[in-house]
Amino acid sequence: MGIVTATVPVESSGLVELRYRYGPQLLPAGGDPTSMWRYRALLPLDDQPIRYSLPVGGTPLLALPGLRRASKLPNLWIKDETRSPTCSNKDRATALSCELALREEKIAITAASTGNVAVSLAIGAAAAGLEAMIFVAAGVGEGKLRLMLQAGARVFKVEEGYEAAFRLSRKAAAKFGWYDRNTGVNPATLEAKKTVALEIWEQLGRAVPDVVVVPAGDGTTLSALAKGFRELVLCRATDHLPRLIGVQAEGCQPLKRTWEGKRCGPIRGTCADGIYVASPSNAATAVRDVKESHGAFVAVSDEAILAAMDELASRGGVLAEPAAAASYAGLLVARDAGLIDPSEIVVAEITGSALKTPHLLPCQAGSVHTIRATLAEIERVL
Ligand SMILES: *Cc1c(COP(=O)(O)O)cnc(C)c1O
Repeated sequence: MGIVTATVPVESSGLVELRYRYGPQLLPAGGDPTSMWRYRALLPLDDQPIRYSLPVGGTPLLALPGLRRASKLPNLWIKDETRSPTCSNKDRATALSCELALREEKIAITAASTGNVAVSLAIGAAAAGLEAMIFVAAGVGEGKLRLMLQAGARVFKVEEGYEAAFRLSRKAAAKFGWYDRNTGVNPATLEAKKTVALEIWEQLGRAVPDVVVVPAGDGTTLSALAKGFRELVLCRATDHLPRLIGVQAEGCQPLKRTWEGKRCGPIRGTCADGIYVASPSNAATAVRDVKESHGAFVAVSDEAILAAMDELASRGGVLAEPAAAASYAGLLVARDAGLIDPSEIVVAEITGSALKTPHLLPCQAGSVHTIRATLAEIERVL
């Protein structure tokens, strides 16, 4: 179970890719559908019992009639990664990293983060009895910072920004013997997040969709999906890959520009902090994965992201933070550009919840009426 057969360096990035002895025997036959550990044969774990106790994985794949109507995509599915301990897809990578850190008898675990990794790691480390050493850019959101502090994390605000925080966290891990959970260098983060692809396949009745749309910052969420779907092919569960559409913000689109063969272009910024990554650590691999799947990158404006937050919540009941809503905004752009046919089975991954970013909610869909307590007043409004 879970025996890695090879670690292969991925061209021009610090990442190594883990390979297994692939075959149908690695796919789950039974087991708990609400847990990521049901895929442990495809994770770098031996048969020791799992010690990490927060429940992770088994997030719902939602069929939402209002959203299907609004998007004019009758076969749209929402993979809702907000239903997880700290409401983002980062909890999968935190779970596997903390489990490995416990097995290596580490005392502390570290990562750099734009926000969600930090919250996820702070909570996950607390639950695992590990110390969290978190490196963030000085501009980190106040709400997310409070959550890290509440969980007892030691937070280093790095004045030079996220990329510098990332390099420093790695150096500190090497120097002080902390477990390094940094995305894009620790292959465990990719391995954990690939379980989203495996779940989608199982939840669609052991079938892969035509298209998966996913927001892209560093591009590891996307590459993890790609690896999951590739491994389903290698395990002979399917004969094709879904097309992957990576969504970037118009104000920060280095992956899209690289995919187009252009230079990186100006970085103007975006309200979507989870995808505000100017030099993605996983760029080469993410671009390769999109090409291999015959997919695409699209870019969306901050206005479109805010409109997507409104539509997801009011037509689908899904509370998405800006980076997560980007996948729905990008889906509409891809549909209008003819990259998605309305008859296709499309999955949009919603990577993080608006509950952590209530101050960013546009709140355009509903209405407030201050009234006297009579039925006549209600009738007047209606
Ligand atoms: C981290 C994150 C992303 C982007 O993931 P990458 O792996 O950096 O591409 C998207 N949305 C949310 C909410 C995130 O936290």
